[in-house]
Amino acid sequence: MEAMLVSACLRGVPCRFDGKHKASPEVEDAVAGRAVVPFCPEVAGGLVTPRRPAELVGGDGYDVLDGTARVVEDTGRDVTAEFLDGARRALAAARNGGCTEALLMPRSPSCGRGAVYDGSFTGRLVPGDGVTAALLQRNGIAVRPAPGV
Ligand code: SF4
Repeated sequence: MEAMLVSACLRGVPCRFDGKHKASPEVEDAVAGRAVVPFCPEVAGGLVTPRRPAELVGGDGYDVLDGTARVVEDTGRDVTAEFLDGARRALAAARNGGCTEALLMPRSPSCGRGAVYDGSFTGRLVPGDGVTAALLQRNGIAVRPAPGV
């Protein structure tokens, strides 16, 4: 069976903005029997852990890739460049690992698939994908959100 890129936080790596991870039995079931390439695009892009929460502003990950939206922290700091760099590194890791699909952390501005926070830091979700999810999909890697998180 082909390899799968998986958000590192789903594999127990404490790389989330709050310094925690999101490992769960549901994720373990979802990757059972698969070769897994764990990867955190935000850390790979140069951000520290813990870090301020960030959200997409002006569009979703596809818009960030196209230069019409940004990623900002709740302090107002622009981290678009770090998110783009992390997404490119995630794509390279997926290709190097022979991954044809990815199982990613829901709602994240990097890894989210189908829904992301709306940029207001109020917990509201809007349809859309994170920056890494968008780049992977544009390059033929199927992304699905992890169950149970
Ligand atoms: Fe997890 Fe993705 Fe956020 Fe890294 S960028 S902590 S892998 S959701």
